[in-house]
Amino acid sequence: MSREQLAVQRARKSFHTGKTKPLEHRIHQLRSLLRFVHERQKEIADAVKKDLGKSEYATELFETIGLEGEINLALENLAEWAAPRPVEKNLLTILDEVYIQPEPLGVVLIIGAWNYPWAVTLQPLIGAIAAGNAAVIKPSEISSHSAKLMEELLPQYLDKDLYPVVTGGVSETQELLKQRFDHIFYTGNSTVGKLVMEAAARHLTPVTLELGGKSPCYIDKDCDITVACRRITWGKFVNVGQTCIAPDYILCEASIQSRVVEEIKKCIKEFYTDNPKTFEDYGRMVNQRHLKRVVALMEGSTIAVGGEVDESQCYIAPTVLKDVTGESKLMQEEIFGPLLPIITVSGVDEAIEFINDREKPLVIYVFADNNKLIKRVIAETSSGALLANDCLVHFTVSALPFGGVGNSGMGCYHGRHSFDRLSHLRSCLIKQLKMEGVNSMRYPPHTAKKMSW
Ligand code: NAD
Repeated sequence: MSREQLAVQRARKSFHTGKTKPLEHRIHQLRSLLRFVHERQKEIADAVKKDLGKSEYATELFETIGLEGEINLALENLAEWAAPRPVEKNLLTILDEVYIQPEPLGVVLIIGAWNYPWAVTLQPLIGAIAAGNAAVIKPSEISSHSAKLMEELLPQYLDKDLYPVVTGGVSETQELLKQRFDHIFYTGNSTVGKLVMEAAARHLTPVTLELGGKSPCYIDKDCDITVACRRITWGKFVNVGQTCIAPDYILCEASIQSRVVEEIKKCIKEFYTDNPKTFEDYGRMVNQRHLKRVVALMEGSTIAVGGEVDESQCYIAPTVLKDVTGESKLMQEEIFGPLLPIITVSGVDEAIEFINDREKPLVIYVFADNNKLIKRVIAETSSGALLANDCLVHFTVSALPFGGVGNSGMGCYHGRHSFDRLSHLRSCLIKQLKMEGVNSMRYPPHTAKKMSW
């Protein structure tokens, strides 16, 4: 039996003992996970530094603080989330007990990506534990230091049988995908997302797919362009553009393009100095393959800011490209790197048309000092989320369901949404055997007397 099969079998056996059902068990595991994040903060940050060149502060800000917040939220609300949820009754069931009882699904497979290796892997785990599931955790092999550390340390804190970490690459993931799960929670690109869904279909396993795509960012000419560009620069170049919800490209009128370029240029200098390469708050592309892929996307487009590349260091400077067209290489795939193309449009009508001609994105960003315009973009487009006048921060609001639509994913999580996503919401109706007379109307024979009632 393979290592992967063994891990799944153990998790299932352990789940069947029923030990995840009592809330005390889940609370104990969530507290241990919280302790893990607190106590191992430094080791986690060191691993991420080796994987992606991120500073300790960035890991705290973008990974561990969010994890702590989600665990605390689950601890505070678990009793309420897991409790029976009474529902409105109809005339036929007015005397009955009618409610929804959330119950665990079973064994969940969590497949993580490398760009925020702890957040995207452990955040679904919080939901899985809270909902009373077992979970097999498969971190991305690309962020190898983080994966190794997770494999080494997590079993020191969590129940080893219920929550095993399985490391490895594509073949190990494929071996896992042959097994039967009760839910698969995958974070990564859409191509692999399709393979995951195909494998899941063989067992009729439901999936959550947290994918990526090209998130557009429209800047209205009458807004405060200085502030808009500052927020966009932050959202785009954090983690060197390797963020699923990073603005992928800018749409704006030609009359403001050079102003946008200048403002972003100023912000790049302010955030990362004249030489981002030697500045600790600017990271690296995760590996040579991704570096080469992103460098190739620049071919044929006009660089307005940046453009420097140092392959030996996996370095690409924060880069802005102007007068980009919808047909250029930059617009054929999610960039997932520090390149920010600007495409000029005649106004919001054309921007909406441009967006609607493409796959539904994970986020649409709008910068405008005009509520009507923002509401119009909401009404006339579709995306996982829409954020006006800022970048990324919707991720931090646990009450908002986080996820994509269409090509950017299916299903959502965070806070209570994670709990619901990884639970079965079971319909329960309890009737008494008394008062049989009330039911006589529905039993045959359906006589004329009954029908005329
Ligand atoms: P990746 O290469 O680490 O792949 C993700 C996981 O899929 C890994 O665990 C890997 O082992 C597995 N995998 C890869 N190829 C496979 C195959 N052929 N068969 C089975 N399993 C396979 O990560 P990635 O896909 O490069 O991640 C980047 C993408 O993820 C971007 O598109 C980004 O937008 C998206 N992303 C989305 C979110 C979100 O929450 N929506 C978060 C982070 C990243």
